Parts: sequence; C-alpha cells; structure tokens
Amino acid sequence: LEDAVIKAEKLAILGQMAAGMVHEIRNPLTAISGFLQLLQKYLKGTPKEEYVTLTLNELKHVNSLISDFLKLSKPGFSKRTQCSISKIITDVVMLVESEAFLRKLDINVDIATDIPAIVGDSDQLKQVFLNIFKNAFDALPHGGKISLQTSWDRHQECVQVIIKDTGTGMDEQTIASIFDPFFTTKESGTGLGMFIIKKIIDNHGGRIEVQSEQEKGTTVTVLLPVGE
Ligand code: ADP
Ligand code: MG
Repeated sequence: LEDAVIKAEKLAILGQMAAGMVHEIRNPLTAISGFLQLLQKYLKGTPKEEYVTLTLNELKHVNSLISDFLKLSKPGFSKRTQCSISKIITDVVMLVESEAFLRKLDINVDIATDIPAIVGDSDQLKQVFLNIFKNAFDALPHGGKISLQTSWDRHQECVQVIIKDTGTGMDEQTIASIFDPFFTTKESGTGLGMFIIKKIIDNHGGRIEVQSEQEKGTTVTVLLPVGE
C-alpha cells in the first residue's frame, strides 16, 4: 500500500510539473503566433506567404497538443460534488449547437427526467461529452445525425449515456486502438481525446464502450455509477 501511495504522490508531482511546464510553453507560443500573424499580413500576396501559413498551421497543432496534454494532467486533482447528468448534457449541447447548425448536423437529445445525481467532477464530465461530440462532428464531414439518450439503469445503479452518430464509422483496428494515447487517424488530430475520456471515466468508477461499423456510424456508451 505504501508503494502505491508513493507512486500516486510521484504521479501527482509529475502532473503538477507538466501542467506548469505547459503554461510556460504557452506564453511564448502566443507571442510567436502573434508575430507570425503580423508577418502573414506583411507578406500577403507574395510567394513567401505560404511559409508563414504553414508555420501557423503547425503552431496550431502544437497548441492543440498542449491543451489536450493540460487536460490530461488535471484528472489527478478532481473535485467531487453531486452533479446532475442532465445539466451536464444540456450545457454541452448548448456549446456544440451552433457548430452543429453550421455543419448542417441534426442533433437529437433525449434526457430522462428520473435520473438521480452522480458524484463527480462536472467540468471533467463535460470534457468527456464535448470530446465525444467533437469526434462525432469529425466523423460527419458531409452532414448527418447525432443522437444522445440518457437513462438510469436501476439494476446496475448507473446512469447511461448513449451517443450515436451516422458518420464514417471505424474498422476493427481503429476501434482496438481508440483509447491509446496519440492514436489518431486525422491529419490534425492529437489522439488524446479518447485517452483522456477513458481516464476521466475510470476516475469516476464508470465504463465506456464503443461500437462502430464502417460507413454506418458509431455508438459510444458511457456508464457512470450513481453516488450514495
Ligand atoms: P483525435 O480526435 O484527435 O483523432 P481521439 O482520441 O478523440 O483523437 O480519437 C482517436 C481516433 O478514434 C480518431 O482519430 C478516429 O479515428 C477514431 N474515432 C473516435 N471517435 C470516432 C467516431 N465517432 N467516428 C469515427 N471514428 C472515431
Ligand atoms: Mg477527438
């Protein structure tokens, strides 16, 4: 047990250091990005403009890696309170609605009313559903449907959230690697989304299942235990 405690402490310190480091990296990146944008204006219409555009795109990628990494180092210090899954889902849907509209996606939400509160970190749980929506958006480049359904499983004493998309789907190899850190099939993906999701759900004592069929779509099921 003592070893486990020491290991947990070491990991917490490492997490804190990583988070601090990421903040330190971010500031100069913001400055670099600012100057590059100036340079881009300056070089507009010249053959050199392309170099700046490429550099800015790479910088964007570094930024998304860093912000995902920051989320990753956070789950260690989670704050647990009674939270309503309906409220979490409603908040997340509000955040993604405008983008869904722009992308001509149809979002259908069905929230059961009899769901008891769960004990957890609502900010982290929002991240979970936000990331699942983001992946669904990426899987629907030509439009389509996303449906979300929540229910309460009395037998398993857990809240169930099912998110379905009618997108590209995945082959078996992709499904098998989906929770691996840095695994991505996207040109500008970080491959940290599902890894972080899994970590947060594990921290909440929950479960996540992914079912998918190529050209048909994907169903992600999240199960979270109801708190005492
Ligand atoms: P990223 O989104 O940065 O690629 P994720 O960890 O969120 O990283 O996802 C890893 C990979 O899993 C994605 O690159 C994609 O291939 C696959 N994936 C995840 N969700 C879906 C989905 N809803 N439909 C199709 N593929 C998905
Ligand atoms: Mg993702």
